[in-house]
Amino acid sequence: MSDRDAAETPGTAGPTDGETADDNPSVRRVSDWSADRLAELAAEHGTPLYVQDLDRVRENCERLRDAFPDADVRYAVKAHTGRAVLEAVREAGLDAECASAGEVDRALAAGFGGDRLHYTAVNPPARDLDYVAGVAEAEPDLTITVGAVDTLDRLAERGYDGRVCVRVNPGVGAGHHEKVRTGGAAKFGIPYDRAAEATRDAAERFDVVGIHAHAGSGIDSDQLDSHRELVARMGELARELAEPNDGDAGGDPDGDGPPDLLDIEYVDVGGGFGVPYEEDAPALDLPAVAEATREAVAPLPAGVDLAIEPGRYVVADAGVLLTRVNTVKPTPDERVVGVDAGMTDLLRPAMYDAYHPIRNLGGAEGVDGSDAPAPADRSATPVTVAGPICETGDTLCRDRALADPVRGDLLAVGIAGAYGYEMANQYNSRPRPAEVALDDGTAAVVRRRETLGDLTTVERTGTVTGGDR
Ligand SMILES: *Cc1c(COP(=O)(O)O)cnc(C)c1O
Repeated sequence: MSDRDAAETPGTAGPTDGETADDNPSVRRVSDWSADRLAELAAEHGTPLYVQDLDRVRENCERLRDAFPDADVRYAVKAHTGRAVLEAVREAGLDAECASAGEVDRALAAGFGGDRLHYTAVNPPARDLDYVAGVAEAEPDLTITVGAVDTLDRLAERGYDGRVCVRVNPGVGAGHHEKVRTGGAAKFGIPYDRAAEATRDAAERFDVVGIHAHAGSGIDSDQLDSHRELVARMGELARELAEPNDGDAGGDPDGDGPPDLLDIEYVDVGGGFGVPYEEDAPALDLPAVAEATREAVAPLPAGVDLAIEPGRYVVADAGVLLTRVNTVKPTPDERVVGVDAGMTDLLRPAMYDAYHPIRNLGGAEGVDGSDAPAPADRSATPVTVAGPICETGDTLCRDRALADPVRGDLLAVGIAGAYGYEMANQYNSRPRPAEVALDDGTAAVVRRRETLGDLTTVERTGTVTGGDR
């Protein structure tokens, strides 16, 4: 039985014709996963272990496409770049939005053609520009999104004159944490009041196909107003660009100045669609967000489409991180539960103070000599769940009521599919965890667990080469 089956009403064999909302719920909570299945996977592959359900990834793509039927939907691959996920997203019909040469490389390998590839260059290293300009020679339909005039100059120096989208700083930001609010941060995009002129100038040297803004991560119902404001500004800019340039009302018969009318294809309003991390937080009302977006951007000039770039929304609730309890330490202040996953496996709690739901799946009760009852029969006890890294910030939660953990229990950390494995690192010389993908219920290891040997690969003689990318 697949996890997807487990989440469905008993008695239904699977998705039938005429999909109902229940076939594709707006969020999959950590409590919806099959505990038995997760325990099996942990027993077979060890912990810490990421589990990513491709069926859920497909459902998330489908809900996005249903909510935004006329929009171009681009998956921001930085949320999860695993090959299996990229292939599932490509098959579901989404484009790929890439933030680096490495991501472009991965997207190409997963089968995205240039016409479905968008590279967003944020202070792009020379090496990345060289690589992407090279790719564009073979894949001329690739689009490069640019947020500074310097970047345009650097592309021109490399002989690039292809498709360009201009990233605008709308001066409005949304986001669940200061560090992921990008809309107002000067680092991103060309300031709104200079954007029209910069876009017209860019059209002299490049094929300008769109304008873009991304406000940050974590659009939820409370932040819908700032989302609406950003989208409205972008709609306004699109209309301005579609009108004759006031400064050059007589036209430009010589063709050596900025073109009067810009013929753009799309207005990309970015990603940031929120996911309910807290157990009692409501799921994002995606149809309502879509409606608000369409209303705010309207009326778009003829031939100009809306585009969106969700990352988190596509993969977050399709993933869990499994970790085993190895230490339980009562102290006068708190009960500390030590586990084998830490901030090197899942950085978000340490970096953003992010909340991830945690469910005790038990397991200790099945072990010889343990007298622990099943988790459902244990009392909810406030605990701090801490990892093995020598950092105070290395906790997955503090003062959280869990079914009282004992040594040997398996914990599932929920909504871990976005920016989870992606931000994993080797600090404290910790090999990165393994990842298993579920596809129609069948599990396959898609990222093997790193070994101690992997930690030193790049510093061993013979493997250290110049590196041409
Ligand atoms: C990160 C990013 C996204 C996706 O953000 P999510 O919060 O994961 O939806 C989209 N567009 C750009 C340019 C980004 O940098």
